[in-house]
Amino acid sequence: MKYEQPELPYSRDALAPAISAETVDYHYGKHEKAYIDNLNRLIKGTEFEDMALEEIIVNAKGPLFNNASQAWNHIFYFFTFSPNGSREPGGDLRKAIDRDFGSFEKFKEAFVDAGVGLFGSGWVWLCRDDDGKLIITQGSNAQNPLTDGLTPLLTFDVWEHAYYLDYQNRRADALKALWDIVDWDVVESRY
Ligand code: MN
Repeated sequence: MKYEQPELPYSRDALAPAISAETVDYHYGKHEKAYIDNLNRLIKGTEFEDMALEEIIVNAKGPLFNNASQAWNHIFYFFTFSPNGSREPGGDLRKAIDRDFGSFEKFKEAFVDAGVGLFGSGWVWLCRDDDGKLIITQGSNAQNPLTDGLTPLLTFDVWEHAYYLDYQNRRADALKALWDIVDWDVVESRY
C-alpha cells in the first residue's frame, strides 16, 4: 500500500465538543480512510503510482482526482486542529488577515458565510495567491485550490458527513464551533 493514513496527533475525544469522538470515528476512521484506500486502489499499476499526491491532484480527472483530493483535503483538515493550540493568528499571517479582511473577526465571519453559502457538499478555504494576498475560496465536492495554483492555508469541510451527527442541519453552528479548535500555529506554518 502506497499511502498510509496518518495517525491523528490527538485522541479521538480531544476536539469535543466542537467535534465529538463519534464524528472523528466516522469522519477520520471511515470517510478519510475510504478515500485513501480508493486512492491506493486506483493508482496501482498506473502512471500515477510514483507521483506525489499533489501531482496526482493537479493531473488526474474523475474518480482518481476525487479520491486523491479528498484524501489530501481530509489529512489537511484534521491536522489543522488541536485541543490546545494558538486560538488566534499572530505574526505576518495576522498582519495579512488584518490587511486583506479588515480584522480577524471580519475574516472569521466571511469564512463561515462562504461555508454556509456553498450549496451542497464541498470545502471552504483560506488561500494565499502568488502575490501573497489572502483570499477565501469555496468549491464543491473534492475541489482543491492546488488546481488553481493557490496555496491552501486553512479549510473547513462542509460535507454533511463532517457535522451531521453533532449538529444535524445546523451548518453555521458546526463551522463556528471549529474556531475553538483551529491551531493557528499550524496555519501560520503553511503561510
Ligand atoms: Mn469530510
